[in-house]
Amino acid sequence: MAAQETVEHKYVYDFAEGNKDLKDLLGGKGANLAEMTNLGLPVPPGFTITTEACKAYLTTGREPDGLAGQIEAHLESLEREMGRRLGDPDDPLLVSVRSGAKFSMPGMMETVLNVGLNDRSVVGLSNQAGGNDRFAWDSYRRLIQMFGKTVCEVPGEEFEHALDEAKRAKGTQNDLDLDADDLRGLVDAYKQIFAKHTGREFPQEPREQLDLAIRAVFDSWNAERAILYRRQERIPADLGTAVNVVSMVFGNLGPDSGTGVAFTRDPGSGAQGIYGDYLANAQGEDVVAGIRNTVPLQELERLDKTSYDQLLGIMARLEEHYKDLCDIEFTIERGKLWMLQTRVGKRTAAAAFVIAGQLVDEGLIDLDEALHRVNGAQLAQLMFPRFQLDHEFQPVAKGIGASPGAASGRVVFTSARAVELAAEGEAVILVRRETNPDDLNGMIAARGILTSRGGKTSHAAVVARGMGKTCVSGADELEVNVPAKTFTVGGHTVGEGDVVSIDGTTGKVYLGEVPVMPSEVVQYFEGELDPETTDDPLVRAVHRIMTHADAARRLRVRTNADTGADAARARRFGAEGIGLCRTEHMFLGDRRELVERLILASGEREREDALAALLPLQRTDFVEIFREMDGLPVTVRLIDPPLHEFLPPLEQLAVNVAVAQERGEDVAKEEALLSAVRRMHEENPMLGLRGVRLGLVIPGLFAMQVRAIAEAAVAVVRDGGRACPEIMVPLVGAVQELETVRAEAEKIIAEVVGDSGVEVLIGTMIEVPRAALTAGQIAEAAEFFSFGTNDLTQMGWGFSRDDVEGAFFWRYLELGIFGISPFESIDTDGVGRLVRIAAEEGRAARPGLKLGVCGEHGGDPESVHFFHSVGLDYVSCSPFRVPVARLEAGRAAISTTGSDSR
Ligand code: PEP
Ligand code: MG
Repeated sequence: MAAQETVEHKYVYDFAEGNKDLKDLLGGKGANLAEMTNLGLPVPPGFTITTEACKAYLTTGREPDGLAGQIEAHLESLEREMGRRLGDPDDPLLVSVRSGAKFSMPGMMETVLNVGLNDRSVVGLSNQAGGNDRFAWDSYRRLIQMFGKTVCEVPGEEFEHALDEAKRAKGTQNDLDLDADDLRGLVDAYKQIFAKHTGREFPQEPREQLDLAIRAVFDSWNAERAILYRRQERIPADLGTAVNVVSMVFGNLGPDSGTGVAFTRDPGSGAQGIYGDYLANAQGEDVVAGIRNTVPLQELERLDKTSYDQLLGIMARLEEHYKDLCDIEFTIERGKLWMLQTRVGKRTAAAAFVIAGQLVDEGLIDLDEALHRVNGAQLAQLMFPRFQLDHEFQPVAKGIGASPGAASGRVVFTSARAVELAAEGEAVILVRRETNPDDLNGMIAARGILTSRGGKTSHAAVVARGMGKTCVSGADELEVNVPAKTFTVGGHTVGEGDVVSIDGTTGKVYLGEVPVMPSEVVQYFEGELDPETTDDPLVRAVHRIMTHADAARRLRVRTNADTGADAARARRFGAEGIGLCRTEHMFLGDRRELVERLILASGEREREDALAALLPLQRTDFVEIFREMDGLPVTVRLIDPPLHEFLPPLEQLAVNVAVAQERGEDVAKEEALLSAVRRMHEENPMLGLRGVRLGLVIPGLFAMQVRAIAEAAVAVVRDGGRACPEIMVPLVGAVQELETVRAEAEKIIAEVVGDSGVEVLIGTMIEVPRAALTAGQIAEAAEFFSFGTNDLTQMGWGFSRDDVEGAFFWRYLELGIFGISPFESIDTDGVGRLVRIAAEEGRAARPGLKLGVCGEHGGDPESVHFFHSVGLDYVSCSPFRVPVARLEAGRAAISTTGSDSR
């Protein structure tokens, strides 16, 4: 114990001590600077203060014990290495203090450059720079400005005004026209601003500057914008940031200096080549501020061939080392190249697939790793229809790509108008400053939603994603005037009825109609593009990675389909059966009236007539589906409608009857209907007479369906085809419910099937929490379970699935109660636990029990990994999500490290 107490916790790492795998501790920037240092690349020397130090500081409000001493020791060794002391009046060492979290949070936290400059060392800096006074005083004024703003919260505009004032006095608009004397004057003005706002002089002590800057970087982890960004990107709030203290190098020392960024491949398309920008005689912040235009990186070859060749060599080396696309920041100080940052670069969905394929070809990674590097969300993005853009179409605004897709339509400003025009068959885009629950009907009616306010978790974004509807949110260049029914953008005024196009992937907004085309990836899945002969690198890469995913995965993938057409498409997309055929969908349209007759039947005769009329219709439906699936398993779920979906609306009916009575018409029939509807009216239809309950209450209903399924299977088999039906009972909560249905079904099946060879399984949905908790009993009567995670989430959380997402989920997301809607991605702690319990207890009672999931979560990338880990046999999802589920099931099977592809 005693020995442990004397061991000091290590909070500071020299760059030579770290490596790229220490991102948790050193942040992305620090870990990669360390990696480059150890590769022998030219990195300005420095050290990293760990995320643990930051976390300790944020928890206790003070630097942890030992930190100050460790910083001192590392600073001394840095000074020895550089042959300069921090802030030395004659030959100063200057450092930058940079944030760097585990996950990149671009621009969200703070950086302070030129730490170590003061009234005396500014002269030393000028000497170092060969008597360049202008450069030295410009560096000093930048320090006071950055330090004042980020460390001491001095309003940034005050410095901007003083700079504008200096330029005005000089009669120029360009910073570069200010000479050393002007900048010396500006430093005085800045110091006064600093003193006015902080009540103290600008700190002259270099070590004090350093300590305050480090503290400011720690604090910036909890800056409002950083919190918001983390929430949007689902980055955990408790990681903290590391702080990098790096010796300064200057790209603004003259024409033989400069700064740039580079990518080792095109992050847009994945194409090989050199991509980047360069700005001579500038610092990184000038590039970001867009003060001057950059030139393509290739220009550097002409300006400084030695550095260019060296940079290309380093880029190749980094790619080979990281085995991935890298992005790089560098500075050239008087002809000497310095690497300031590298990381595995962000890329578009298309580039992710293409690059993964290329790296396999180049022998840098294997197919498992390629599969690991892409994900289902990227594949889903590649499957949305795309705008066919040519130069004719320029965006007029750019907001947040909140829900992907491409949509064109007439602009409307109110929900009511959206509903009206949509009813006339018009495609409409609902434009609002922001949406609220009152807009729900309009959002449902619209092709797309465009708002001028709000981020990725705004009401519009959440609801649109839930509906799978294209949405661009937060397009703040738009001035939306709802009463006037117009919005203005870039000098254009757009009124109600005008056509706009929005791209929910890129967030871009276009005036007029932009034509759309199906994505090449969908064409490939549809069998319209041959992956062996196409010259499209994306299709080739997708094919290769999908083939590998299919070989690797253990989970089977089925589809939710209730028409022959959907079943056929799903098969083309790779479905290996139907996991959910919702038979209530077969009772809509003109069959609705038969169901209404059945539900409201006053006597046995009437009911039997209705059932007899339904039987052949159902049989035809099933024959079509069995034929399409050709021997693959087809899970047919017995009818499960909330009753109100089949009955005329109560209020409407009451009004009709009252009006007819008023007119003195004969309303006996309508009155009977009204009283029946009143009798059956439910306050909570979702928790009412549906699923197995309906089957037990209405005699003959399930029997008719079981007969239709069995007869259809026999018909297909007698015709030389194959059929593999699985009958599924919905909403079971107790084994007795299932036993009752099963006893009747078995009799009918035995009678119909005879010696045809058809085998029919009988199983149940697990979608009521009680069923999950009594799965051991229920398994005695079920040959398979299929988890209905929509209802399991509804009843597990007590969230009405029809209401809550639009009503208040945006607030729950804002508060971080959950990071994503539990209807979208399974809540593994709660609802997922029910699934796990039921799977374990079900299999314990009946070894070999077949387990699947058919709720929406079956096609959600993260949930697929969970279902793999629970040991289900298959997931089932809508046809369009089948490829996504195949890919994620493959990724789940090979994922042993659990590392992420963020
Ligand atoms: C479920 O509840 O998850 C399910 C698949 O059934 P439905 O969505 O039809 O209620
Ligand atoms: Mg359900």
